[in-house]
Amino acid sequence: MGEFELISRFFDRGPARRSELGVGDDCAILRAQAPGTTLAVATDMLVAGRHFLASADPASVGHKALAVNLSDLAAMGARPLAFTLALALPDADERWLEGFSAGMFALADQHDCELIGGDTTRGPLNVCITVLGELPVGAALRRDRAEPGDDLWVSGELGGAALAVRLGEAALPAERARLDRPQPRVALGLALRHLARAAIDVSDGLVGDLGHVCERSRVGAEVQWPAVPLAPGLAQSAAQDRPALALAGGDDYELLFSAAPENRSSIEALAGPLGLRLSRIGRIVPGQGVRVLDERGRPMAAGLHAYDHFA
Ligand code: ADP
Ligand code: MG
Repeated sequence: MGEFELISRFFDRGPARRSELGVGDDCAILRAQAPGTTLAVATDMLVAGRHFLASADPASVGHKALAVNLSDLAAMGARPLAFTLALALPDADERWLEGFSAGMFALADQHDCELIGGDTTRGPLNVCITVLGELPVGAALRRDRAEPGDDLWVSGELGGAALAVRLGEAALPAERARLDRPQPRVALGLALRHLARAAIDVSDGLVGDLGHVCERSRVGAEVQWPAVPLAPGLAQSAAQDRPALALAGGDDYELLFSAAPENRSSIEALAGPLGLRLSRIGRIVPGQGVRVLDERGRPMAAGLHAYDHFA
């Protein structure tokens, strides 16, 4: 199977639907956006041996490569439109490609996000996706918009993916799914456009990602540890292990956001329709840095940092 047969078999699904022109020409062509809207663009790369094992289920790799990108759109409140896929493969393994494309397209279809092009080359297994999304002008949930007095919220539950990494083969299916098949919170991001001020997706751990919001917004934050929603599996781990899993463990892809207290009830009302837990876990304060407070209001040990590839 040559390069072009590979592309047409696994990545070309026929005439473009949402875009003017998709896979097959020198460029894809998108329709110009409606007046009053902007384009949101994000790129995330998954490298075998670093973000996933080369032996990982290919459908999960396809799902996750797109999911982490859609999660970035969700964190800005953007609606997914289209994506490109740059793929390096050690060989044209049909079984792998079938699984990979099926996992990727299942999630793409769920979010009506169209593959419009990409690049395919031989090389160490590497998957790089760029997503494009749409946003009304001025509606983005930017990291630099948090204000002292804001409530701090997080969706879903934290620590499940980190627990799956720690347990490896012994992980339960629920935690395994959190790690392998994260669900990008796109609908939540859209619903928060007019309710939240700042948002970020929790990819590197809550404390570290909240630190990015604080730095960009020039504010501090206080997190109440007892209010942090824990993945069910954490009940089985030792109590002293739970803060590191839930606050510093990455890969959960939940949304962390700040919002004015007057929006509390509107935000709480989203949980039912979205089928998603929304927890108020603290607040934005003047100053700088993230403080986590235990059940008695005492600061908990520092050292819960975000994952840093070059640290
Ligand atoms: P060019 O040589 O003009 O860069 P390519 O030969 O790399 O074009 O690709 C041919 C067509 O296939 C292009 O439309 C490109 O966007 C598309 N394409 C290549 N690889 C992929 C991929 N992995 N997924 C989707 N589309 C792809
Ligand atoms: Mg090319």
